[in-house]
Amino acid sequence: MKKIIEVQNLVKRYGNFEAVKGISFDVNEGEIFGLLGPNGAGKSTTLEIIETLRQKTSGKIVVDGFDLDKQPDEIKKIIGVQLQTSGYYPGLNLTELIKLFGGLYNEKVDVTGFLQMVNLTDKAKAKYKELSGGQKQRFSIATTLINQPKIIFLDEPTTGLDPQARRNLWELIRGIREKGTTVIITTHYMDEAEVLCDRVAVIDSGKIIAIDSPDKMVDDLVASGFERKKEVKAATLEDVFINLTGKSLREE
Ligand code: ADP
Repeated sequence: MKKIIEVQNLVKRYGNFEAVKGISFDVNEGEIFGLLGPNGAGKSTTLEIIETLRQKTSGKIVVDGFDLDKQPDEIKKIIGVQLQTSGYYPGLNLTELIKLFGGLYNEKVDVTGFLQMVNLTDKAKAKYKELSGGQKQRFSIATTLINQPKIIFLDEPTTGLDPQARRNLWELIRGIREKGTTVIITTHYMDEAEVLCDRVAVIDSGKIIAIDSPDKMVDDLVASGFERKKEVKAATLEDVFINLTGKSLREE
């Protein structure tokens, strides 16, 4: 298995505060890799350093063979990053935005195919701010693909979405991976990590405290003698909700 990202002893200090305390991990090509942890754990900091958007204090990072210190521009060419909301010029509609981003990357983009992929064909003339939460996230994930990157970075892509929209995004993310793109995602939803990620790193107070597949982590916990206090039911309240309200998207 090829390692597409290698992080060694990454440290990030903000003044005297050490937000990332010497973490190391690898991401394999073609996997969905999750960074899990509570708010303030250091997930976004780590992600933005790998994305070349933030300076690290120390450590070594190699992305697809390129050293972050020596060839950051090569790294920028092969990664896709979600824009902050403020990047979506309010006067432009989705079609115009896609063309604009394509122009920035010097890529000719098939706008129709692009909107089809994320199920937004009927929103071609809508402005970003007119989209529902789920549609905004779909569009924003799609824009990470414009430069045909090898790796995309998704920072809490489903936060604030309803269960239907979250499931819909999971499908989209899986589809992107199936086409060969490596995905790094941060989340604090454990159910999301469990269904989506091939491997996860659990990060807390700037340190990685576990790294493995979700399945293996659960097996290890059970093997250590852990038992759930309540009897586990065969369904969750979320299953009930989805069963009652259906899987279809409610955006219109
Ligand atoms: P997460 O994404 O896991 O919520 P962050 O990487 O955003 O965590 O933040 C990690 C820690 O670093 C937090 O305590 C946060 O307050 C702090 N931090 C993040 N960015 C800055 C900054 N620009 N200046 C000072 N402290 C920061």
